Formats: sequence, structure tokens, C-alpha cells
Amino acid sequence: MKTLLKQYFGYDEFRPLQEEIINNVVSGNDSFVLMPTGGGKSLCYQLPALKFKGITLVISPLIALMKDQVDSLKACGVQAEFINSSLAPSQIDEICARAKRGEIKILYVAPERFALSNFQEFLKSLDISLIAVDEAHCISEWGHDFRPDYRNLKLLKTMFSGVPLMALTATATKKVREDILNQLYLQKSRLFISGFNRENLKLSVMEKRKAFDKLVNLLRKYKGESVIIYCFSRKETEEIAENLRLNDFSARAYHAGLESRTRKLVQDLFIKDEVDIIVATIAFGMGIDKPDVRLVAHYTYPKTLEGYYQEIGRAGRDGLPSECVMFYTYADTRKHEFFINQIEDSRLRELAQGKLNEVMEFGELSSCRKKYLLKYFGEEMAGDNCGGCDICLTEKEMFDAATVAKKILSAVVKTGNRFGKNYIVDVLMGKNVQKVMINNHDKISVFGIVDDFNKSEVGHIIKQLMDLNYIAKSIGQYPTLSITRKGADFLQNDEKLELPKLKDDSVDDSFVKKGELEYNHGMFEILRVLRKEIADKAGVPPFVIFGDTTLREMAYYFPRDKENFARLSGVGERKLAEFGDIFLSDINKFVEKNNISSIDIPDSRQGGRAIRVKTRKQKFHARTKELVIKKISVERIAKDQDLKPSTIINHIEKLIDAGEKLDIDYLKLPSDRYRTMKEAFNVCGNEKLKPVFEYLGENYSYDELKLVRVLMMV
Ligand code: ADP
Ligand code: MG
Ligand code: ZN
Repeated sequence: MKTLLKQYFGYDEFRPLQEEIINNVVSGNDSFVLMPTGGGKSLCYQLPALKFKGITLVISPLIALMKDQVDSLKACGVQAEFINSSLAPSQIDEICARAKRGEIKILYVAPERFALSNFQEFLKSLDISLIAVDEAHCISEWGHDFRPDYRNLKLLKTMFSGVPLMALTATATKKVREDILNQLYLQKSRLFISGFNRENLKLSVMEKRKAFDKLVNLLRKYKGESVIIYCFSRKETEEIAENLRLNDFSARAYHAGLESRTRKLVQDLFIKDEVDIIVATIAFGMGIDKPDVRLVAHYTYPKTLEGYYQEIGRAGRDGLPSECVMFYTYADTRKHEFFINQIEDSRLRELAQGKLNEVMEFGELSSCRKKYLLKYFGEEMAGDNCGGCDICLTEKEMFDAATVAKKILSAVVKTGNRFGKNYIVDVLMGKNVQKVMINNHDKISVFGIVDDFNKSEVGHIIKQLMDLNYIAKSIGQYPTLSITRKGADFLQNDEKLELPKLKDDSVDDSFVKKGELEYNHGMFEILRVLRKEIADKAGVPPFVIFGDTTLREMAYYFPRDKENFARLSGVGERKLAEFGDIFLSDINKFVEKNNISSIDIPDSRQGGRAIRVKTRKQKFHARTKELVIKKISVERIAKDQDLKPSTIINHIEKLIDAGEKLDIDYLKLPSDRYRTMKEAFNVCGNEKLKPVFEYLGENYSYDELKLVRVLMMV
């Protein structure tokens, strides 16, 4: 299977669950696959299809998606075709004839075809080895994208009994899941459910103040790359697209009010990398499967977390680091509530309000956002720090909050424990708003008492006082605040209180840097232009030629011959033969002109696990290794790389861990110290350093201990 994976798709490793699923399918069993967007579901039927003798049928809901998938497969040298209403009858006849002759491996079919009896007859005449129902949630009325045509697929199990059947979806809700299993008669299938955390996505929430400026700043970071911005209304999409164009961005609006011809055009421009930014209402997205969307922004916060998860799912399908930013302000709530209030059925109205409240909660969190989101979908995240959301990535700077907390608590009490957060903020900041005046709260002592914090900072502090249970919030549509027993105690006594400062929303790229290959951007741009030229000539989207991952690897390793080129991720036999020379020629020109040395790509197919994507860290590791071989001291290696000695020891540890045979004996410390520490490790175990540190009466530094631990490993 691994050989086929590299041969056709150019990948070296399976993504989580892919191998298990493929094995199950190849053994002739039914499968139900639940994986997040970008998890790599397609491969789970495409690879078995290559192994099977007969044809694999794939049912997929959207004409545009079918074409892209088939184009991608063809570019990899797989015989694939599709049948849907976009083809002329004569074209369909030809494909059917080829299918009968066994000349097609994978056939994509639109669901409505299954209602036609002569099509059913045709299918029965084929040698079918596997049937895959992609986007299987479309069969369920409970799903967000019900398609009545999918109901035709009920007949699959009886019509093709004995043929392995699989259903694939990214929709996590239990109700939909059960519905799919029942409708397709897949109750006995094996279930494959992968985690829903998208590790390559960074989630953040920005305060929606000067939002357009913030947006422009963000977009600068992604200039030339694909971005989707979701808006609340058609009007808003038009306005923002227009303003972005005025700022020299390539942006187009997309919404249901556009003519279908225009909508199709805008989608095409986006898919072909001719427009970078789509400013859309939620109508946008189902029809596209663009793998290299680097940023999804919500200009107005969405009305449900289900919708949010689905929309951010469109970012980074290719697994490269990508960002999702939601602009949040309480003020947008009334936009949503305007529509919620028009729902007549009171039960549905409350449901909608409840869902909206969840999104607001998410927007106002002061703890990990991924944890919250996963929990909402019934998944428990281990630990409290995901390393991939604004909260977890921001180092918390603390400040002395005792005084301001007391002012806030007094204001809550003095206004009678019956007002909401915004009202309390208005009073504290001395805002002469009508409601405050009517209540005579401009006369009380706490009016205007806070002048060293701005509105959002005060709001943030109140939020934290609620988290600390100093203030309680009532439930309902207009929650009010009241002081708790704990809060009252605090107000009475002279306790200390430190709280984290509100972070500012400046663009930070630590996350993106972390997972990113340090590729040469000049080279990348050249390769991107080349990719676009080839794609246009072939009439396919650029990502069909090569994904961004492959281009980035080219611009990092600078392969100079076919042997090295073949080792890039995403380069299989067909693509090597077809595009190898032309890309190599551009790479070689660049290398010579700029005097660049290329990096050998490990050939992972010769057994052993190769680290393909070298991060900057691994570059440091390589340098450390070089210097250790030369028997340079830890201190000097640290100086050489401008790093701390402890970091160098970490490098050495990682290198040894990875199986490097390094002679590090020369690093040994004076023998008595070494022996004492070694004994301590034997007593305390070597899992953690702290117990050893304490056992030795804190007489040995962590650096020394770490080094001894490494020395003990070899
Ligand atoms: P899904 O249907 O689950 O949303 P796709 O099947 O569209 O995901 O795959 C998303 C992306 O991941 C595609 O660009 C695909 O080529 C890539 N991909 C899939 N499997 C692998 C793999 N094993 N190694 C590298 N990339 C992969
Ligand atoms: Mg898919
Ligand atoms: Zn987090």
C-alpha cells in the first residue's frame, strides 16, 4: 500500500487512520469514516480502488468537486472519470462504454443518476469492486446540507450486496451519524472516527474595533495567498470587497444574491488563483475544495458553533499551518437577534438563541478555545494548552488588579445587583448614557471612578471576576450581574489579586512560523507562476499540478536532479515524468543565479522513517550535530548558535533519541559529580528532572542533570 501511495500520490506516510481504513476496505468490509475536513478521506477509497480488480464508484454531491477530484486523479496517472449533468449524452455514452471495457478505475457519479432505471441496469453490468458515498451527511435531513437525491442511495446495499460500501463525512453530530448508518444499511460496518482537532489551524478572536484596519494588517501577511472572509450580509460583502480592492488586494464578493453565472465565475477565479480573497456570506464554500486556503476570517461572528467549525474547516486542508480569525463584538449580537426574534416557533427560537449564546461564550473565553470547541462537539482535549489558539499562544502578563476589582464589585453592589456587564462598564467609566441618568447612577460614588482602563479592558476584568466566581451572571437573554459571597469577602478584606492583562490584537505569526518550512520565498513565487502557467494550459486548477507543500519543499531542498525531485512529497511517478524537467529547469536556474546549495532529501522509500519537513529547529539540530562530532563543548556550541546551553542539551537529547550514533563521552562532567547524579536518577527515575533536583538538595543545576540523563542514554 505504501508503494502505491508514493507511486501514484507521491506521499510517504499515511495520515492517521488512513491505513486502518484502507486495510478494512481492501479486506472487503463496509466502513463508516468520520474525519474532519482535510483529514484525507478521499485517499481512503482512492487507494483501495487501485488495488481492486474492478471499478470503484464514488458518489459525490457537487459537480464542481467531481471535476476537480477527477482532474487531480488523472494528473496522478489514475484512470478516473465522472458522470453528471454537465456532460453531453454522447460524452456519457462514451464513458459508459469505457467503463464496461474495464478502462476506468474510479468513476464519480452524481446521486440523481441512481433514480434512472437504465443507469441502474448499466451499473449492474459493471464489475464493481467498491462503492464510496462521499459527503454522506447529505443523506440526512438533520444535517446542514440535505440533498433529497441522496435518498436514492438507499438501494446501494441491496443492489450491490457483497460489494464493500463506505460512507465518509466530516459531520460529527450523533443524530446525523446514526441517520447515515440506518439509511445506507451500514449498521454492521466498522466505524472509524478520528479526533476533530485540526492541529494545523490557529484559532483566534479579535476585538471588533478598528476591524477593517486589523483585517488589512492580517491580509498583508497572506498577500498572494487564498483567503475567505465571511460576512453577515450581502451588503457587507460588497462593501468589504470594494474597500479591499481600494487597498490593492485582489478581492471579490460572493453571495446568494449574485447571478449563478457570476457566482460560478467568482468560484473559478478563486480556484484558479486569479482572485486571492473571497468576501462571502455563508453561501460560499460547499462547492469548493481548495486545499491551500491560508486564512478564514469571520468579520461578523457566526450564529452557531457548528457553522463556525464548518467554515474554518475550509482553511488549511493541505495540512499546512493556517489561521482562523473571528472578529467579535457584543454589538453584533443584535444583528443576529433581529432574525432570531422573527422565528415563530418558540422552541426553535430558544434553540437558536441558545446556540448564539454558545458562540458569544466562545468569543469571550479566557481559556483555551480549541478545548471549548472540541468539548462542544463532545470531545475531551487532554491538557489545558492546545498551543494553537490565541489564548494558549499568548504569554500572560499579569498586573495588580485589586483596586480596579474593588471598584467593579462596588459598582455591581451600588447599582443593586441587577444590571448587565455593559451597564456596569458605562457607570464605572462615567458615560452619560440615558439609562444611567434615568437611574440616577450618575450621582453615585462609583460613577466615573475608573479612568486608567479602557472599555474593553474593564469588560475583560469583569469577565475574569466571573471566572473567579466573584461575580455571578444570571441566565436568560439579558443576563445581569450580582456579587457573590466570595466577591463580598474580597471587597471587605485586604486581599491581593493579580490578573492577566488583556492582550492586544497585533498580528502575531509565532504559530505559523512554528510549523513552517523555512523555504525561499523568491523561489516559491517563481514556482507558483510556473505552476499557474502549466495549470492554465491544461485547463485545471493549479493545486492539481502540485500542492503548496510540494512547492515549498522545492523551495527548501532545491532538488537538482530527477532522483531528488522524485522524493518530494506529492511527486509520484506520473507527475515526475510529466513535470519533473520543467520544474527542475527553473530550480536549477535559480540555484545557479543565486549561488544556493541544495539539501539532500532523505529517500524514505528505502525503509526507515525520514523526516521530510525540516523545521528551523531541525536545522539547529544539524548544526549541533556537526559541532558535537567535532567535540566542541556545550557552551561553545551554544555561543555559536546564539542559544542557551540547555537548548543545546535538548538538541543532543533529541538527536540521541532519534537514533543518532554520537560520541558524547567527551561531555562527561567530573566523575564524582557524574556518579552522584547518576545514582540520584537511579533512585528517582529519569522521567522528570524536578524530583532528582530536589533529591540532590538543589546542589546540581538542571542543565547538568539534563546532560547526565542524556549521557546515561547512550
Ligand atoms: P477530506 O476529504 O477529508 O476533507 P481530502 O481527501 O480532500 O480531505 O484531503 C485533504 C488534503 O490532504 C489533500 O490535498 C490531499 O492530497 C492531502 N493528503 C491526503 N492524504 C495525505 C497523505 N497521506 N500525505 C500527505 N497529504 C495527504
Ligand atoms: Mg472530501
Ligand atoms: Zn488553546
